Amino acid sequence: MVFRRTVLSVARSDRLRSLVSGSGVTRGVVNRFVAGEDADSVVAAVRDLTGRGLLASIDHLGEDTLHPEQATGVTRGYVRLLERLAEEGLTPAAEVSVKPTAVGLGLGAEGESLAAANIARICAAARDAGTTVTVDMEAEDAVPATLRIVNGLRGDFPWLGCVLQSYLRRTEGDLAAMARPGARIRLCKGAYAPDPGSAHTDRRDVDAAYVRALRRLMTGPALPMVATHDPRLIEIAGTLAALAHRSTEEFEYQMLYGVRPDEQLRLVDLGARVRVYVPYGRDWYGYLARRLAERPANLAFAARSLVSR
Ligand code: FAD
Repeated sequence: MVFRRTVLSVARSDRLRSLVSGSGVTRGVVNRFVAGEDADSVVAAVRDLTGRGLLASIDHLGEDTLHPEQATGVTRGYVRLLERLAEEGLTPAAEVSVKPTAVGLGLGAEGESLAAANIARICAAARDAGTTVTVDMEAEDAVPATLRIVNGLRGDFPWLGCVLQSYLRRTEGDLAAMARPGARIRLCKGAYAPDPGSAHTDRRDVDAAYVRALRRLMTGPALPMVATHDPRLIEIAGTLAALAHRSTEEFEYQMLYGVRPDEQLRLVDLGARVRVYVPYGRDWYGYLARRLAERPANLAFAARSLVSR
């Protein structure tokens, strides 16, 4: 947790951002975690994944939306992408993941209603394309508004998914409120730097909270989406699903693009549903910083790519 907080706070430096984004030094690192900068690249990556029996959730990267027009632009990008996925025959295997701040949540008093309206447009386009949407969970201050938005849209789009983060103490209560029949819930550990007062700070506590939430999800009425690369949690998820008599259609594993690809295919071979979270777009900096903060090995990989230029 301390390592993550340090890397994330260093990554917030504007100087570092412009150095990294402008220099092209990190191309190898970016390519490992991001499927490209345009729709053609992401469509090709998703076609490759679905050809191997995997499902996909595509994130159009962007979390520094400063103007309503920018939020509208991101929304249009999602609508066009969903039309394209349908044309290419990639739905329903591919759905989309949306960050509320990318579609306006951070824009002052009107931000919540703007983000809700934009996510509703994306959901309508997904329905037309025959697929689904999952709303990502971001930093802690965005959690209450994000849950309100999802709850508000579930009436029209009952398949709208949301994310809960096991590092937050509040998640236990949120899970009880959100895991209703038909709901799709992605459970992850959490990738931001939450306030130690409201979050578990010890890895073991985050993992224990994950297992408690998983048990509740597997025995409850919602569709569990198990988002982790952690071998222990993946095994526990399989055991809990079996104990709850869930078929392989009644839960799914989710992993990030470029992370443990062999494990993704191993689970597919066992008959599991496995969805890969596929980010694409030019605004990859924040996403990449979180991947590097998660794991010292990822940071070492980035450092090697810097010195080997
Ligand atoms: P970690 O604690 O990072 O790792 C545990 C173990 O997993 C490691 O010890 C290792 O054995 C194995 N492992 C992990 N990474 C690797 C690797 N690169 N190579 C080999 N082994 C590895 N976070 C949010 O806050 N909001 C979201 O909306 C969100 N959406 C997500 C969607 C998906 C599909 C996924 C997979 C993650 C998402 N996350 C999200 C990120 C998540 O919160 C974690 O930060 C991230 O998944 C790392 O945690 P972990 O569970 O994989 O385990």
